[in-house]
Amino acid sequence: MSGFDPHNPDRWQRVVGDVVGEVRGEVRGEREGPTLVCVGGVHGNEPAGVLASARVVERLAASPGVLRGRFLALTGNLRALRRGDPALRYQARDLNRAFTDEAIADAQGAPPHARDPEQAEVAELVTELVGLLDGAGFPAGSALLDLHTFSSPGAPFAYVEDSLPARRLGLALGLPLIVGLDEELRGLLADYATNRLGLPSLVVEAGLHEDPGAVAVHESAVWVTLETLGMIGDADALAGFDARALLRGRAGRQAGRFYDIRHREPEGDPPVEMLDRARAFTRVWKGLTPVAVRAHADGRRRVLRAAADGILFMPNRQQRKLPADDAYFILRPIWRRFVGVSGWLRQRAWAHRLLAALPGVRPDPDRPHTLLVDHDVAALMARDILHLFGYRVVRSGPSPYRRWPTRAVMAVWVLGRALLRVGGVLPTGRDEIWVVRRHRLDVEGFPRPENSR
Ligand SMILES: [Zn+2]
Repeated sequence: MSGFDPHNPDRWQRVVGDVVGEVRGEVRGEREGPTLVCVGGVHGNEPAGVLASARVVERLAASPGVLRGRFLALTGNLRALRRGDPALRYQARDLNRAFTDEAIADAQGAPPHARDPEQAEVAELVTELVGLLDGAGFPAGSALLDLHTFSSPGAPFAYVEDSLPARRLGLALGLPLIVGLDEELRGLLADYATNRLGLPSLVVEAGLHEDPGAVAVHESAVWVTLETLGMIGDADALAGFDARALLRGRAGRQAGRFYDIRHREPEGDPPVEMLDRARAFTRVWKGLTPVAVRAHADGRRRVLRAAADGILFMPNRQQRKLPADDAYFILRPIWRRFVGVSGWLRQRAWAHRLLAALPGVRPDPDRPHTLLVDHDVAALMARDILHLFGYRVVRSGPSPYRRWPTRAVMAVWVLGRALLRVGGVLPTGRDEIWVVRRHRLDVEGFPRPENSR
């Protein structure tokens, strides 16, 4: 891997490296430890993750006997990376929204010559990943790392689906950790890895696309994750530097913070332009803080204000944008002690029985670990309480963000109506029901080693 030249198109290969642990000179089977699958460059203008995983591969290959398990580093959007265009995120469609069941089936069903570039990528990546599954699945403790960079200045951060095993990986990095994107976005590689392959997934956003320091952030994240999974003994010894200190230093004041997604704003048509002052991880207020401008075809320019109270996140400053892309997100800061309480609570059976017994909430008779929630009760809980208990929204109606005082007034009305529904006085329409479900990895936990053979 030495002499890795990002400007030479032939340098980009699907498999960056595949290191299988050895002990006392004998090659251990991959079943002897977890597998960490590391994907970089899912977006064509984000080579940092591939460069970082290449460094890790090189160090591991030169250090026989230190790895327990298997480290497999893959490249995401190979065709876009090979174009070498720093503005080219994708060619036909966003590869990191293309991992839905339908999009995968479309890509696999199309004859190879009829696939668009990202369909070809999806088909190849799925084949590669599914090929790793033999029999019952991945060895216990396996995981997937998805390495990205971003377009708007701000601290590096990590994102996970809110399951306990994934949280553990995310919190170990010390970067600000965000949960809840899986409720807002479909077709993420990380979602696919979790829901179809059973792998807890950790997404790391290391810095600006053009920041050479992003490679070191990614490299640190890979070393720390290998250590957290018990695949190596000492991350710093292998990295040659203090990996956790590097991550904390780059995160600055955001180090160790925890956030839930409160709101996602789509670009719309025509896509908006974020204002200079709309910076990642700054405080915004609903209806007050100007965040973007939409320039209409007839010359009108409309200033858009924040759609919720919270912390502005991932303002989109990509060079090319489509109406369905994300304009920005708004985060809800979560107190770290609350994170611990939530983790404890969601492992208690009585807590789930209690939640299901609230007025307006009932267990789904057909699906385990799933609740049906009346729309107005759900709007009142505003997801916060559902998230605390480890439930994510599977299907919901529109529910605009409301401040606490408004919700307090609503509570009287809403609980009254819910009680009347329980009593059968008021009917409940199917479209007025939210479906919420516990995270699959919380219910199943890590697969046991004996089951994974
Ligand atoms: Zn990306």
